Amino acid sequence: MPFWKTEMKELAPGVFAYVQADGTWFVSNAGLIIGKEDAIVIDSLSNEKRVRVFMEEIAKTTDKPVRLLINTHSHGDHIWTNHFFKEAKVICHERCREATLAAAEVDPATYEENFPGLNLDGAQITPQDITFENKLTLYTDDLKVQMIYNGPAHTTEDIFIYLEEAGIVFCGDLLFYLCTPLALMGHISGWIATLDLLAGLGAEIYIPGHGPVTNKNGLLESREYLLHIQNETKKRFDAGMDPFIAAKDIDLGEFAKWTNPERIVANVERLYSEFRGEEPGAPLDGTSILQKMMKL
Ligand SMILES: [Zn+2]
Repeated sequence: MPFWKTEMKELAPGVFAYVQADGTWFVSNAGLIIGKEDAIVIDSLSNEKRVRVFMEEIAKTTDKPVRLLINTHSHGDHIWTNHFFKEAKVICHERCREATLAAAEVDPATYEENFPGLNLDGAQITPQDITFENKLTLYTDDLKVQMIYNGPAHTTEDIFIYLEEAGIVFCGDLLFYLCTPLALMGHISGWIATLDLLAGLGAEIYIPGHGPVTNKNGLLESREYLLHIQNETKKRFDAGMDPFIAAKDIDLGEFAKWTNPERIVANVERLYSEFRGEEPGAPLDGTSILQKMMKL
């Protein structure tokens, strides 16, 4: 497995990816776009310690205030430190805000029970200020920043941020690279379709939500994982196999080396739901699936 480090990485003038090693549970990437007057941040992080380091890196990079924060989706590792960006209005998909509000009933600290060693000090749920449905474009000076929703994928609310002129896409968790994709709350057929759309953009740089910055080849590898488990799971679903047994039975091949291969358990459960004809993101028993994942 290639190694990558935590760093602020310049991708184009004024455009940065903040990548965190090693991309495992609750260790996500973010972005920074600097304009003449102010700056845009893409996603906050999971806890205070991590966001403080990120903010130090921002301060080393620019003295412009962060006035806009984009949340790619409502998972905690992308939103739980929104409140540290005090001057920023927060923008996301309409359903992302709904999911954020629904999750506000649960204290993030309860996740520490299921993930031994996880530190969620300073994590807090802060609802976003601005929402949109399908597409929103904003301009920071001359740079066109397109926020696009393409349907259920990793969740039912993911957006990606497309900087067309620069050939850069901030994928959020629509892309996991060298880290196993997680579809517990999404839709795998829809996810493959969205990765096809992203590949079709012909961008030069794709920033995943977890894992190192990559290109179209990395994106296609991630697509290959989804396609592989979709095919393998279908055979076992048709044979009437129990989903947990199916998850343990599937040979992940090269993908077994990616971080968090145990996510096959959740992905198989999501595929079974799809094969039963349930709607994208239909609720599954998250706690039980999580426990099975951790057992594996
Ligand atoms: Zn996520």
